[in-house]
Amino acid sequence: MDLMMLAVIQGRLWQAAAMVQQRLELWTPGDSKSAADETEACLRSAMYRAAQAEFEQVTRALDLIDEGRYGNCDACGDSLEVGTLLARPYRLVCDRCYTPM
Ligand SMILES: [Zn+2]
Repeated sequence: MDLMMLAVIQGRLWQAAAMVQQRLELWTPGDSKSAADETEACLRSAMYRAAQAEFEQVTRALDLIDEGRYGNCDACGDSLEVGTLLARPYRLVCDRCYTPM
């Protein structure tokens, strides 16, 4: 992958990291005091966990760029399509290895 493309993707990853961090702050589970709060607490913790998982993926992608290993499938090592990486810069596996959550 050329350096220009990598710089573009790295910029997007930083943006994504900042956005996910905002979501983590927004959804930080608080104390629940009533039954109604409990439903909300449940939702909050689900949102929080989702954001946390996403944050891990973003930071992993940034680590891979630092290590010079970004752009290859994390599972099989094949090189990833630039189009795929631009669409979802922190998806780290190829179409064959990808299993939707
Ligand atoms: Zn793969």
